[in-house]
Amino acid sequence: MNLLNAFTVDVEDYYHVSAFESQVDRSQWGAYESRVEVSTRRLLRLLEQHNVRGTFFVLCWVAEHYPHLVREIHAGGHEIGSHSYWHRLIYNQTPAEFREDLVRSRDILEGLIGQRVTSYRAPSFSITNKSLWALDILIEEGFKVDSSIFPIYHDRYGIPGARRDLHQVERAGGTLWEFPVSVKEFAGWKLPVSGGGYFRLYPLNFTSASLSSINLRLNQPFVFYIHPWEIDPGQPRLSVGSRLSRFRHYVNLSRTYSKLDMLLSRFRFGSLGDVIATQSPNGQWDGVPIPTDIVSTKIVSKIAECQVSGSVNMRN
Ligand SMILES: [Zn+2]
Repeated sequence: MNLLNAFTVDVEDYYHVSAFESQVDRSQWGAYESRVEVSTRRLLRLLEQHNVRGTFFVLCWVAEHYPHLVREIHAGGHEIGSHSYWHRLIYNQTPAEFREDLVRSRDILEGLIGQRVTSYRAPSFSITNKSLWALDILIEEGFKVDSSIFPIYHDRYGIPGARRDLHQVERAGGTLWEFPVSVKEFAGWKLPVSGGGYFRLYPLNFTSASLSSINLRLNQPFVFYIHPWEIDPGQPRLSVGSRLSRFRHYVNLSRTYSKLDMLLSRFRFGSLGDVIATQSPNGQWDGVPIPTDIVSTKIVSKIAECQVSGSVNMRN
């Protein structure tokens, strides 16, 4: 069976990343050359060529500066989620600071697209054992979906023992769909395989084999993530951050676009809401509004076909 997998994008620019934040002051963000519009549009065109709809977690600072970009993403039929306002690591904030940032980002995004925003991804996957309280706040603020937990060990993020499958988190205040970022067990190790720098670093065939294994052996959809700056080899090189951080940020930028093009040809992808719908007994999901009036008829009919046939293929 060809499962429908989740395609996600964290919409931010090259100077927003956590690895550089100690030397890139937030008050100076506006002084950097902006590349996010061009890169995001390039990504949108690629997704359109493959008839793929994704979930775009938008950094709200970007949304405020380029509101038309959010509307363009939404008009392309993609889901809009929040990637916070200021890209601050959650475990470095108090619960009150996190809530303020979350609500601000949600309200701005909802104002731009005229629909509820119910999906969230933390900056640098920073929901860890130190910040699980963020899940409660997400539920209290009406969020239905989270994709902030990375079930690996890493110096900046991760919960090594966390569940790796798509599941519903039960908290005192309610439930939340959790899309952990995909990890593959390999020779006793848990390897992050599903996007970002890992996608740029590994050969495409290794990534493909890992993702196929998650689909076929675990019968689980995988969660792929990427940033617009990862398909922009011409971005200004910043002499900030550690040598390791710069390696992680700049490795193989020139090859990402073509690899992504091939990956999109090999697997079936949809938004988080589309993937949840395939898990529901009635094939319905009403937690994330799907703008069916503006999604291309081709995509909608393919999803309908898949749900009727029990398959979850988005593409022929
Ligand atoms: Zn980010």
